Parts: sequence; C-alpha cells; structure tokens
Amino acid sequence: MSDNCLFCKIIKGDIPSTRIYESDRVIGFVDLHPQAKKHFLFVHKNHTSNINEMAYDGHSLVDVYQAIAEFTKKEQLDFSGFRVVTNQGKHSGQTVFHTHFHVLGGEHLGHFGS
Ligand code: AMP
Ligand code: ZN
Repeated sequence: MSDNCLFCKIIKGDIPSTRIYESDRVIGFVDLHPQAKKHFLFVHKNHTSNINEMAYDGHSLVDVYQAIAEFTKKEQLDFSGFRVVTNQGKHSGQTVFHTHFHVLGGEHLGHFGS
C-alpha cells in the first residue's frame, strides 16, 4: 500500500468505487470517466507504479490478467470483444501511478493504430 495513492485508497475502501470484480489479489471497478459504453479498471492489490515495475513483481501480471479473463468471460465480453490498455509515463498520458489496466468494450471501438 502507498499512502498517497488514489487506487490504494480505492482498494482499502477509503474512496468509493463501483466494484465489478474482487479476489484476494485483484479488484476491478468502473472508470469514473468512461471512454466506451463499458469501461473498467483492473488493479492488483500490491502497489506498483507502472507496467514495467509490475513485470518484476512476481505473478502480479498473471493475477491481473487472469482476473480480466475471468470477468470478460463471465460478462460475455470475450464474445463481443474488448480492448485492454495500460499507460506508462508522460507520453502515454498516465495520470494515476498505480498500475491499472483499462478494459473497454460494449460497443464497436475505433480501430487502434490506423
Ligand atoms: P490513466 O490516464 O491511464 O492513468 O487512467 C486513469 C484512469 O483513472 C482514468 O481513466 C480516470 O477516469 C480514472 N479515474 C480517476 N479517478 C477515479 C476514481 N476515483 N474512480 C474510478 N476511476 C477513476
Ligand atoms: Zn497504489
């Protein structure tokens, strides 16, 4: 846990969120400013600042991705399709420095990279 981290406060329940997934290691909640009809954030309960830091943190990356897989299957988002995005650093526009994965779907998303 990191004292001044917004998502650590959400994990602790000190700041409210609409939780859509929880396990002993991971939570998923609704993004406050959705960029698609369905927009969720998945975070590990262990604080890391970004994806590169998380990559060296044991099995955290697998924990979060298995949570996303479980959730998207349950919600049948795997059938309609979804996108996972993570931002790291200034050029990406990262604003919250607790590693998080955006899960976007529920509508046709613009083609990425064209
Ligand atoms: P990023 O720009 O990749 O760092 O993403 C941060 C995301 O956190 C943005 O999509 C925000 O809308 C979202 N966000 C910020 N504060 C909250 C909050 N209190 N509850 C839910 N989502 C939030
Ligand atoms: Zn944190």
